[in-house]
Amino acid sequence: MKLLEQANEVYRKNFPNETWFGRCIFVSWYCDVGTCKFCYRSTLKSRIKHAKNARRTPVSIYTEALLAKHLGWRIEFLTGGYNIYPLNDLANITKKVSELYGNRIWLNLGALNKEEIKLFEPYIEGLVASIETINPKLHEKICPNKPIEPYLEMIKSYKGKKSATIIIGLGEKESDFDLLADFIKKYKLDRLTYYALKPVKGTPYSKGPTTEQYLKWVAKTRIEFPKLEIITGVTPRRTDEVYSLLKAGSNAITKFPITKSFNSIEAKNIEKQMHDAGRNFTGTLTDVNKLKNINNIKIENNIKEKLNEYINLMSKK
Ligand code: SF4
Repeated sequence: MKLLEQANEVYRKNFPNETWFGRCIFVSWYCDVGTCKFCYRSTLKSRIKHAKNARRTPVSIYTEALLAKHLGWRIEFLTGGYNIYPLNDLANITKKVSELYGNRIWLNLGALNKEEIKLFEPYIEGLVASIETINPKLHEKICPNKPIEPYLEMIKSYKGKKSATIIIGLGEKESDFDLLADFIKKYKLDRLTYYALKPVKGTPYSKGPTTEQYLKWVAKTRIEFPKLEIITGVTPRRTDEVYSLLKAGSNAITKFPITKSFNSIEAKNIEKQMHDAGRNFTGTLTDVNKLKNINNIKIENNIKEKLNEYINLMSKK
């Protein structure tokens, strides 16, 4: 594909020959909005009676921060559904995650106002607006209770780094790319994360986009925005796309459920494709010895216990 060659050329002129894995850390499995048509959490809402029960415990969140640090992953962002933890608790969790990780982190916790952002500011690298699709009519249909405007307000007034998430396969048209390009320019985004829609049982979607559709959006974005950081999601079924996504100008890979699939065939495939695409991978998705060595770090006992649980599960493959 000509587009891919062009995008690869632009990438090579603007970025080093490296790639990374971005681990997304969730604070819960519940969302109070729960009506976005494609979302896994919209299928859970009616089954979860008490939001508190769907919270992850802080220690398991902290454990993931440690895994990311010691296995060379980046934290794609800290995220979770609406109205799960009080905001002050979320700020404390964000602080601790950034301390354990040893760096500021990206935050994707909905549309925050200026006062709310202040709580997180010392610990964050930037804010993510999960707008999902840029076409206003489509957005209204797909996310009826998650209007786009508060996100736009948030990133308009925010002075730090900004990012957004876009899902391909929701029903957008190719011509919507112009809307997306205007959006990236207008809000001066530093980063964009793309996902190929993962069809979830119980939602109206039964298939994701073709590889070609997905690649087109990534490549066009790379060509139009040579310096933008572009992250692309792959699910276990789509790991064969890693090579082409990197060639299309993606900087890094995310979404892959690594704690469930460490050292799996799919994880090995991701590393191979990164290598075949000529990129140095700055972490590991497969090194069980490195994983077991995390055990030696000095850390509070309750986190250590959880860390050991994760290490045991993850080293079984
Ligand atoms: S607001 Fe986010 S987490 Fe909640 S249903 Fe919509 S997409 Fe899913």
